[in-house]
Amino acid sequence: MAPFSFDVLARDGRARGGLLRTPHGEVETPVFMPVGTAGAVKAVLHRDLREMGARILLANTYHLMLRPGDELVARLGGLHGFTGWDGPFLTDSGGYQVFSLAALRRLDEEGVRFQSHIDGTAHLLSPERSMQVQQNLGADVAMAFDECPPGDAPRDVVAEATSRTTRWARRSRDAHRREDQWLFGIVQGGIHLDLREASARELLAIGFPGYAIGGLSVGEPKEGRDRVLEHLDPVLPEDKPRYLMGVGTPEDLVDSVARGVDMFDCVLPTRNARNGQLFTSQGRLAIRNARYKEDPRPPDPACGCPTCRTVSRAYLRHLHLANEMGAATLMSLHNLFYYLDMMRAMRQSIRLCRFAEWRRDTLRRLADGQDGP
Ligand SMILES: [Zn+2]
Repeated sequence: MAPFSFDVLARDGRARGGLLRTPHGEVETPVFMPVGTAGAVKAVLHRDLREMGARILLANTYHLMLRPGDELVARLGGLHGFTGWDGPFLTDSGGYQVFSLAALRRLDEEGVRFQSHIDGTAHLLSPERSMQVQQNLGADVAMAFDECPPGDAPRDVVAEATSRTTRWARRSRDAHRREDQWLFGIVQGGIHLDLREASARELLAIGFPGYAIGGLSVGEPKEGRDRVLEHLDPVLPEDKPRYLMGVGTPEDLVDSVARGVDMFDCVLPTRNARNGQLFTSQGRLAIRNARYKEDPRPPDPACGCPTCRTVSRAYLRHLHLANEMGAATLMSLHNLFYYLDMMRAMRQSIRLCRFAEWRRDTLRRLADGQDGP
């Protein structure tokens, strides 16, 4: 059997329930991928991720090429051997981080020259270099190298970045050799529907086994994103996975699944956890708030995660204010569990053809609880 396949097994409206098969296991979609920036999801152990049902992790090309270096990772068995996570991995192209983190970058047709934000050393990230790094890292899914302009960039800048992304996608595909790794193309084009459509059609002509939608977590209004997804839905092939990069809140995930998206990643659940913000079935909860000082209830009484089964809001608040490391772990566990559990519920509602109803109820509950549970 081919190590890779993707099948859409259920549909409800435009929402899709699918199955992605990779050399390191199967992934039911729609799926949320926890972000393991440097090869680890911050403050959380692989064991706990596995137990709470995480199936595929994202790791960042930019961070790992700078530290500890992709060749070292390759010598130690790639991401799977190096990190001990034996499920699927996806690596991003490094494009987004090089544009958002690196200092003194200079972009030309070859690629981006930049200085490491860690030690100031000089590097080049190009389609060929991104493929070399990602093949060394050995994730199950790699991404073509793209140019991701800021959300407020003028149209001509976005247009130039979009056509360069197509040229870089072709070079990425030509430089990609590993047969045990899928390479996805990335659709750019900002919030301009004609640019988005042109980008998607050019990538389709090159031909990829999956398509990502990039540049939609860079500060653009939500309505613009929804319109782009609706416009791309009939353009992208029905039988290939669609991955919306870097998005977003629980509401964003629900609304994007409703527009045909299959895969997501986002730092929000883990980053917000470290800052003391919890996502709950009743909306968001800021654990610093004085009202939780003596609150004996779990963070989310409706949640079955290890944190909600064992600790109170009062204890979590105390740990967070005392800068105890356990606070980050306990809250990251809860937020990730919340996201993964929401995706499970979403997949089930699609299978049962009850997604519209589930979506309405879920969004209403989240909106009602905006002041915190
Ligand atoms: Zn919980």
